[in-house]
Amino acid sequence: MTALQPLAPSAGRQPRLLVPQPAGGESPAAYLATGGYPAAPAPDRIIERTAAAGLRGRGGAGFPTAVKLRTLRDAPARGVVVANGEEGEPGSVKDRWLLRHRPHTVLDGIRLAAHATGATHAYVYLSDRPAADSVRRALAARPPSVPVRIVLTEHTYVAGEESAVVRRIDGGPALPTAKPPRPYESGVGGAPTLVANVETLARLALLVAHPESAEAVASTYLVTLSGGEEPPVLGEVPRGTHLKELADLVGRGDCSAALLGGLFGGLYGHGWDGLRLDPDELGDAGGALGCGAIRFLGPEDCPVGRAADAAGYLADQSARQCGVCVSGTRALAATLTAVARGTGGEEDVDKLRRWSLGLPGRGACGLLDAAARIAGTLLRHFPDRVLAHQGTGCASCRTAGPPDGSRLTVDVP
Ligand code: SF4
Repeated sequence: MTALQPLAPSAGRQPRLLVPQPAGGESPAAYLATGGYPAAPAPDRIIERTAAAGLRGRGGAGFPTAVKLRTLRDAPARGVVVANGEEGEPGSVKDRWLLRHRPHTVLDGIRLAAHATGATHAYVYLSDRPAADSVRRALAARPPSVPVRIVLTEHTYVAGEESAVVRRIDGGPALPTAKPPRPYESGVGGAPTLVANVETLARLALLVAHPESAEAVASTYLVTLSGGEEPPVLGEVPRGTHLKELADLVGRGDCSAALLGGLFGGLYGHGWDGLRLDPDELGDAGGALGCGAIRFLGPEDCPVGRAADAAGYLADQSARQCGVCVSGTRALAATLTAVARGTGGEEDVDKLRRWSLGLPGRGACGLLDAAARIAGTLLRHFPDRVLAHQGTGCASCRTAGPPDGSRLTVDVP
């Protein structure tokens, strides 16, 4: 597996998350020297500043952070903050990178979120051992003003889903539960709980420390880019960056398609290079930015085969709780594999079309939606490629072996 290259194009003088750190990670002194751990503004001021900057969550859903903070502040009981560092998308590394290399920035974000909401204590939730060690060292080097506990989980696609996070912290398995209640209503130990992605919290820390750059901080994204001839890249880029520019960063100037949001945002073919890194724009185009992981496919990558890889990975990762997901994801993956190999017929393509429309929203978490979106976007963007597979498959799919999610995985630098 290739190494990653931290990169921060076009960031100018604005405060950034992705700056090289010494071996052993960020020290409290170094973080303080950049304006970190400032005196906390009044709770309302933090929330107003977050709202004015337009900060949105970076775990996948993109929900406005100020709304979450306000909801917890106004809850009838005092709440809990959880820094969610469990990134399940196989093509994303940003959260583990932050926890390994910028633990004080994340802990500062926790401190400010707890101050803004009146939370009594906090958790850092993750599966990555080096990241846990880094956070442990940071907590020892500068004890936090709010009690923070580290909770380790297993690494699965669904372990970072917010209800799975709460269930695991409460001592159960890291599996999603039916909603409602949402964690902000009844979360850890029954208390109202803010489950926030670690990049979101790190950006909260930056925008409080650097109010003059708050909007720029809130409209900048960590992205994991992969699929090219160059090693994968962890980058920090402004909203509105053209995906074509991002493809060039990993040596994929010949890109013909893109897999967005990790596996959550679907496949894009013709016209992908006109898209920009913008959650609203990608949503309007029928996809999702998700956690900011983008895999670029070149001419040698068959989109049908990559869709089968993605669906096979998701079927393996199904928590097998919801009947519709157990049967639906597995059937969808098997059918996509048959289509890729050329053993599927028109009736299989019809099934994929039906499932892509009928399955979303029927599971307790987004895994089923991701599988359905993969199938739906494949059919929408690559109808000719799907048709061309009937009877023989393509040379790449015939020799590719079983669906393999590891082809879509990236290692942490
Ligand atoms: S939708 Fe699938 S992965 Fe999600 S909770 Fe249900 S069974 Fe588990």
